[in-house]
Formats: sequence, C-alpha cells, structure tokens
Amino acid sequence: MNILIYPAPQLRQKAKAVKEIKESFYERTQEMLNLMYEAKGIGLAANQVGWMERVLVKDETGERTGERVFINPVILHQEGETLEEEGCLSLPGVFGKVIRSEKVVVAAYTLNGERLEIKAEDLSARVWQHEIDHLNGTLIIDKMTPASRLANSKRLKELEQAFREETSRVRTR
Ligand code: ZN
Repeated sequence: MNILIYPAPQLRQKAKAVKEIKESFYERTQEMLNLMYEAKGIGLAANQVGWMERVLVKDETGERTGERVFINPVILHQEGETLEEEGCLSLPGVFGKVIRSEKVVVAAYTLNGERLEIKAEDLSARVWQHEIDHLNGTLIIDKMTPASRLANSKRLKELEQAFREETSRVRTR
C-alpha cells in the first residue's frame, strides 16, 4: 500500500459505499494510519491508497492519540464559511486557499459498526470536508481560489509530467 499521487486516476473516481465491514478492514486501515503518520498528514481517504470504498482515517493531533477510522461518512449539516490554506498528501508541494464550511455534523460508522454523529469545527471540520471530497473524486485543486490555482499551475504540470514518466517506465519494464 502506498499513497497515490496526482494525477493517479483513482483520485478522480467515486469510492463505493461499504456494504459489509470485513475483518481485513482492521489491517488495511492500520496501514493507512501508518502511511498518514509517516507523511505527517492528519487525514487519508481510502481511494488515496487505491482502495475504492468509502473509508477514511483521520487524526488531527497527528500524534497517534486521536486516530479514528470512519466508514460511509456523510455530512448531515454544515454552516459558516472559512477560507484557509490547505494541502493534500496526494498533491505534494501544492498549497492553496480553499473555502470550507466552518462547522459540520457528520454521520459515520466505526469499525465495530457503531453509528456516530460527530460535530466538528475549524480544522476538524476542514479535514472531514477534505476527506469526504476525496471519496467523491474531488481534489483541493477543484475548489481553490483562482489565484491559488494559478500559483500552483507549474507544480501541477510537474506532477503530471512525473506521473507520465512513471507510467511509461512501468509499461516498458
Ligand atoms: Zn487530500
């Protein structure tokens, strides 16, 4: 398992709802958490590792104290608006301002199948929206202000070029 980098096609696909929580989910989500911590991230969606189901891990503390696994997350309510800079583990070197709701209420299932309703605000609310966007195939570059998008255009071209080179290397290997 590794973190897919833009423009990997899985990042643009919509992840499918989980119908059954399988035993293998424990190991896979633990692996996702490890990758997330290694990369100094605070959230990771399953399709970022090529797993096309609606699963995400997050830990805003970044210190293995608030780690959580969530399945089939849905935003029930959102309010307010904030504009802050955001980055993404699948878009290394890309940072831009993204408008998000200030507060959200999210419903999601735990690995034990328990349904939770979670109120979040500020950074936590931002992470929820960012990761749920991933599960829908949406990236921060789709939501950035035009100025931020422009400021990152060179870096995006570099990532696209690197991906093309990597894909052709794999093909000819
Ligand atoms: Zn991301």
